Amino acid sequence: MATVESKAAQGTNGRGAGAQIEVENPATGEVVAHVPDLDDEQVAELARRGRAAQPGWQAMGYEGRGRVLRRAQKWLLDNSERLVETMISETGKVVEDVTLEISYGGGAFGFWAKHAESYLADEKVKSSSVFIKGKRLTLRYEPLGLVGIIGPWNYPFVNSFGDAIPALAAGNSVILKPSEITPLTSLLMAEALTQCGLPEDVFQVATGRGATGAAVVDQVDMIMFTGSTATGKKVMERAAQTLTPVSLELGGKDPMIVLSDADLERAANLAVFYSMQNSGQTCISVERVYVEEPVYDEFVDKVTEKVRALRQGPAEGPGSNDVGAMIFPKQAEIVESHVQDALAKGARALTGGRRRPGAGTFYEPTVLVDVDHTMKAMTEETFGPTLPIMKVADAEEALRLANDSAYGLSGSVVTKDVARGEQIARRMQAGTVCVNDAIMNYMALELPMGGWKASGLGTRHGQGGIRKYTRTQSILISRMHLKRDIHMFPYSATVTKVLGRALKLLYGRGKRD
Ligand code: NAD
Repeated sequence: MATVESKAAQGTNGRGAGAQIEVENPATGEVVAHVPDLDDEQVAELARRGRAAQPGWQAMGYEGRGRVLRRAQKWLLDNSERLVETMISETGKVVEDVTLEISYGGGAFGFWAKHAESYLADEKVKSSSVFIKGKRLTLRYEPLGLVGIIGPWNYPFVNSFGDAIPALAAGNSVILKPSEITPLTSLLMAEALTQCGLPEDVFQVATGRGATGAAVVDQVDMIMFTGSTATGKKVMERAAQTLTPVSLELGGKDPMIVLSDADLERAANLAVFYSMQNSGQTCISVERVYVEEPVYDEFVDKVTEKVRALRQGPAEGPGSNDVGAMIFPKQAEIVESHVQDALAKGARALTGGRRRPGAGTFYEPTVLVDVDHTMKAMTEETFGPTLPIMKVADAEEALRLANDSAYGLSGSVVTKDVARGEQIARRMQAGTVCVNDAIMNYMALELPMGGWKASGLGTRHGQGGIRKYTRTQSILISRMHLKRDIHMFPYSATVTKVLGRALKLLYGRGKRD
């Protein structure tokens, strides 16, 4: 068992002093480390250091910062075994689920190192206003200064640390508050970035619970939050006190619609993989499926057979198991309550339907049928290895039910008629939609991703995914001008009349209905 502290926390807290948080491996129940639970003053000290370090980092320019990020990309590949071990130790995931996180990281370091400059380049702006003749207009993007990132436990690299990469590429300092359940990956990445030449205090990790997150909100110039909708609302409320901008990536209840012309083998594989991968603890996992009546029975049979064949257990090397632990024991209780609620209201579990007995926190991969929207399993985020499947008369009923949700993160349609699939997908109330696929959009860093309705505010990835870490500055430069412009003092009746006529000439002749 190790005591792990961020470098900054050692400076303010003293090794071993202050409140500590136990980090547990949920697959074994073993305590693997202790990390400090930082208080308000310690977070304020991190903020002071981060602000002091930021101008130097910004001054390194895109090339200098890109070099550090590219070195980090190499570090990731050279140290993937250590990273895999660390992630498994705090999440209880299987090897393939953490390898996915590293694949994302490898891509993300290179992507932001390459694209930051073009996404944030100055833009020339043209104006149609006659008053602007002879003036040059430019829009530029300036790093915000100190960005705070608060992350969840389900993807300690992708959804916590991952957002730091564009924030750093833009020239900001970052304080990352990882989930108290999974802080070790972020601490390892802080060590990695230092080895790769990141100047001291540009990236700091504030370990701690919710109160530490709230303290981060108070200190920074912008908050990137990923987590539950309930906490997202608290973060936004707190940020309002300091008018701090927020970007929120929140929960989801993502639907999949299977049409009767679908390739059922692919449909079943999609539904099983994207509901059970990472033990169902993915914000954009398939949480509910609507299947057209003619193919319902065959689809359910295929899915049930595939789910029954899944191997569950701790990571014992590549390919050893398919479905790992529930990372957060309280989440296993939520999964349990959703399944119990569904069973009590008339649903049937064709496989699974209970916690796995024995060591560690595991919930058996579960297929539920005879479900409807009176059940939590169909309306609230379950965030576990469950797949409720509902029979529908047609695509219209499926769409109505898919959109009958407080959430709007993502959704998918499976059909051989790709054009029809796209039409249906476009009518889904969700920030990202896939046809004959799911989740893969996340690997396309060029494509923005963000939730509608209670699933969030703002996007990550793409141009907007780095511009949000900047503030814009609009510049007007007058190059050709008179000594006194016509609209300046002293006002005169003649000029006012001339301007009035000009106004009518300019705007009075447009086509009107
Ligand atoms: P959570 O909301 O419980 O916690 C998220 C983070 O917020 C943690 O670091 C926590 O310590 C911190 N926090 C708690 N209270 C706080 C407060 N008052 N002020 C500031 N910070 C506070 O979420 P979780 O259980 O860790 O993660 C699971 C949730 O995250 C699910 O709802 C999932 O859908 C969502 N998620 C969304 C995305 C996305 O991209 N939309 C990605 C991953 C996870």
